[in-house]
Amino acid sequence: MASQENMHILVVEDEQKIRTALMDFLEFHGFTVTPAVDGLEAQRIVSEGKFDLILLDLMLPKISGEQLCSIWRQNALQTPIIIVTAKGQEKERIKGLDLGADDYITKPFSLEEMLARIKAVLRRTDPTRAVGQAFRFADLDIDVGALKARREDKKIEITKREAAIIQYFAANPNRVISREELYKEVWHDTMTDLGTRTMDMHIAKLRSKIEPDTADPTIIKTVRGAGYKYEV
Ligand code: CA
Repeated sequence: MASQENMHILVVEDEQKIRTALMDFLEFHGFTVTPAVDGLEAQRIVSEGKFDLILLDLMLPKISGEQLCSIWRQNALQTPIIIVTAKGQEKERIKGLDLGADDYITKPFSLEEMLARIKAVLRRTDPTRAVGQAFRFADLDIDVGALKARREDKKIEITKREAAIIQYFAANPNRVISREELYKEVWHDTMTDLGTRTMDMHIAKLRSKIEPDTADPTIIKTVRGAGYKYEV
């Protein structure tokens, strides 16, 4: 994973103690951090700048974290969001995920746990950052910039979408990836029937290019009833 130096996190938290602790800790770990003390300020800051990730407290003055998340996703904001809930807000927690948040964390949390969640979400939501433009994928050399895969001397042309699919699997090895997740992260859209067919077509086409035996895929494996998996 690349350095965190250029990564910018927005911390939306009205409790000063927590906000300061988070800022100090994240800055110590190389992130650039901007604070927002209430929902209104968060909304203004997000409308003016670009962030790599937003830490969003749910219980906020002026505009709630829930409302913010909903507004941002309706406006097609793609920035990963981790929702911070107080203990016992189980309902809000679930709702938060429905609102399009990428993860949630319950207070009180340890700063180390928060850092681990942030890294996991960044890795998941930005595979380019996790694996880069050129990387090894099973027995293939992938060059995303050039849209090429190479197996020994055999060069394989890939499309942009296929490159994005490969990047996503490469960034998330040894984990079952549901079709909904793949669709959300590669197509940046919510799964529909049409989306399902579109994705199936792309996976089939990609397999025909990279799998030694398309009848028995060994690179992008099918996990019956669950999704796909790339094993390293
Ligand atoms: Ca709060």
